[in-house]
Amino acid sequence: MSKINVLQPNVFNKIAAGEVVERPASIVKELVENSIDAGATKVEVQIYDGGISKIIVSDNGSGIEPEDLELAFLPHATSKIKNFNDLMDIHTLGFRGEALASIASVSEVETITKTVNSNGQSIKLSGGKVVAKGEKGSPQGTYFCVENLFFNTPARQKFLKKPQKEESEITTLITRLILANPNVAIKYSADDKQIFSSTGKGIEDAIFAIYGSQTMQNIIPIDVSNDKYSIKGYIGKTTYFKSNRTYQTVIINGRWISDSVISAALTQSYEAYMMKHCFPFCVIYLTIPNEEVDVNVHPSKLEVRFQDSRKIFGFVYKAITETLYSDLTKKTVDETTIEETHEDKEQVVSSNLQDASDRKTETNGASIDFFIDNAINGISSSNGVHSSEGSVLSEIIIEKLQAEHPAHEFNSQNNQQDEMQEAEQQIIAPKPIQTQLISDDIKDKNAFLSTQIVGRLFNTFIIVEINDDVYFIDQHAAHERLLYDKYVNQVKQKAITCQPLLLPYTIDVNHTEAQFILDNLELLQQLGFDIEPFGSLTFKISAIPSILPDLNVTNFFNNFLSNINSIVQLKSVDLILDNLAQTACKHAVKGGDDLDKEEIIKLISDFADGSVTMQCPHGRPFVVKFTRKDLDKWFKRTV
Ligand code: ADP
Ligand code: MG
Repeated sequence: MSKINVLQPNVFNKIAAGEVVERPASIVKELVENSIDAGATKVEVQIYDGGISKIIVSDNGSGIEPEDLELAFLPHATSKIKNFNDLMDIHTLGFRGEALASIASVSEVETITKTVNSNGQSIKLSGGKVVAKGEKGSPQGTYFCVENLFFNTPARQKFLKKPQKEESEITTLITRLILANPNVAIKYSADDKQIFSSTGKGIEDAIFAIYGSQTMQNIIPIDVSNDKYSIKGYIGKTTYFKSNRTYQTVIINGRWISDSVISAALTQSYEAYMMKHCFPFCVIYLTIPNEEVDVNVHPSKLEVRFQDSRKIFGFVYKAITETLYSDLTKKTVDETTIEETHEDKEQVVSSNLQDASDRKTETNGASIDFFIDNAINGISSSNGVHSSEGSVLSEIIIEKLQAEHPAHEFNSQNNQQDEMQEAEQQIIAPKPIQTQLISDDIKDKNAFLSTQIVGRLFNTFIIVEINDDVYFIDQHAAHERLLYDKYVNQVKQKAITCQPLLLPYTIDVNHTEAQFILDNLELLQQLGFDIEPFGSLTFKISAIPSILPDLNVTNFFNNFLSNINSIVQLKSVDLILDNLAQTACKHAVKGGDDLDKEEIIKLISDFADGSVTMQCPHGRPFVVKFTRKDLDKWFKRTV
C-alpha cells in the first residue's frame, strides 16, 4: 500500500499559511503591501480585537480585474513575476504569490474590488473555498475583510496572544509602514479608535504623524548622496536622545530594515555627544543599488545582507557626522549672536564643535578606512577587537550585549568584577588569603552589637572586630542592600505606600513605549506608582513609592523603558527590581560620605540579624572578613 499522499491544495495552503500568516500583524503587512504595490495613494486599516476577529484593509489602488479575482487566491498566483528574469529585479514589496491563498485558507475573507475599466466585483471565501461571487458596486480600488482568523485551525488559535498584545504588534508594524511609505496616506484605527493618520505628503508629515511636535523640534534633515548611494530623512540633534531604539527607523530601498551595520554607524556618529545607555533618533531612507543588497536573507524580509558592508558603513557614518557637524556650526553662529550671555550653553556647543571637528579630521583620508574596518570587525567578531580604537569598539560590543541581555550592566559590572579581582590580588600581599563572605557568622546579633567598631577607613569602610575576626564593611554597598531589601519586602508583602507628588508628572512616549507601560501598569501601581494614561501617548504620575522620596522620575522611566530593547523576555518584576537596585544605589550613602557613629551602628544592626544577603544588589560583596589567623600568617607569627 502506498504511503505517499499527494496533499490537497487546501491542506498545502494551511501549511504554507504558517509561514505567511503567523499572526494578525503578518496579515496586515501582506495586505497593506499589496495595496502599495497596486499603486494606492490612500490605504485604510481597521482592526478589531487585535485583528483576531476582524481586519479590514481598503485602498484606492488599481483594483483586480474580474477574471483575475478568483485566481488571486490560488497558491503561487501573482501578477508580479512572469519569468525567472523578473525574480532578479523585483521592485514590489511582496512576490511570493501566496499571501492571499494562505490568508484565505485560515479565515473568512471578503474582497470587493474595481478597476478603472470594469464593474465592481466581490468574492467571499471560507477556509480557502469560494462561497459567493458576483458583481458589486464599489469605488475604484480594493477592499479586503478578513474575519475569524484560524477558525478552522484551533491549534494555531492557541498561539495567538491577547488582543491587546496583537494590537500592539500591528501598531508597531503600522508605524513602520507609515515611515517607509511617506507618500501614501495611511489611516489606522483599532476597535474604531483612530490611532494614526498620515497625510501622504512626505517624510516630515509622516514623522509628525508618528512622533508628534516635540520630536519635530529636535530633529534635523539629512540629505547626502554620491554616485551610488543616497541617504535622506531626519536625524536627532546632538542634544536629543532616547532611552531605547524604538525611535530609530532605517528604510532601505523602501523597506523597513533592522540592521547592525547601519545601527553601528549611527551610534558611532553620535559618540562624542552621547551619554551611556542613550540612543539617537533617526528616520533615514537609504537608496542602495539593488544588486548590492540582498533583502531575502530573512524570511520576513526585515534583514538584509550588503555586498560591501564597509562601504555602506562608511557612507552612512560620514553622512551623519557631517550633517551633525554642519548643524552645530550653524547653531554656534546663531547662538553667539543671539545668546551671548548664555555662557554655559556656548561652552557645550563649542566643546561639541571641537569634538566634531576632531572627529572630522579623524574621518579624513586613510583614517576613516582604518576606523571603519575596525568598527565592522568589532561588530562581527564576538570577542571584540583590540586596537587603538579599542574603547570605541568595546562600546559597540557592550551595547550589543546589553541589547541582548539588558539585566547585566556589562560595562560597569565587569569592571567592578575586574577591579575586585585586582583588589583581591593586591590585599594578598605576602601570601594569598581567602577573603570570604560572611553569612553564618553574623547571625548572632548580640555578639555583633556587643563588639566594638574599631574604626573607619577612607570614610568608606567600617572596620568591626568580633571575637577573633575582623570585618571590613563597605558602607555604601551595605546601605544599598538594605534599601533594596526593604523595598523588595514591601513589594512582596504588597505593603507599598505611595507618596503623592505636589505637581503630577507627565511623560510623553511613543506607541511601543506606551504599550510597554500599559503591559506593566498594574505592576507599576503595585510598586507604589500612581500612574495612569493621560491621552494616548502621555502618562500622568501622581504619586511615587514613598520609600524612594527623592526618586528622579524621568530617570526611572527612561531606565524602565530601556528594557524594551530586550531580546530576552525578562519577567516584568525582574525589570522593575533591576531598576530599583539602581535607584537604591543612587540613594544609598556613598563611600566618602561622613557617617556618624549612630548611623554606623544603625547600619550594622540592620543587617546583623543575618536575614540580609551579604551582597549589594549589583552582586558586589559588602562585607569581607579576615580572621586573626590570616593576620598572624601575614606577619609570620604562625606558619
Ligand atoms: P503577490 O503579492 O506575491 O503577488 P499575493 O497573494 O499577495 O501575491 O497577491 C496575489 C495577487 O493579487 C497580486 O499579484 C495582485 O495581482 C493581486 N492583488 C492582491 N491585493 C491587491 C490589491 N490590494 N490591489 C490590486 N491587486 C491586488
Ligand atoms: Mg503580496
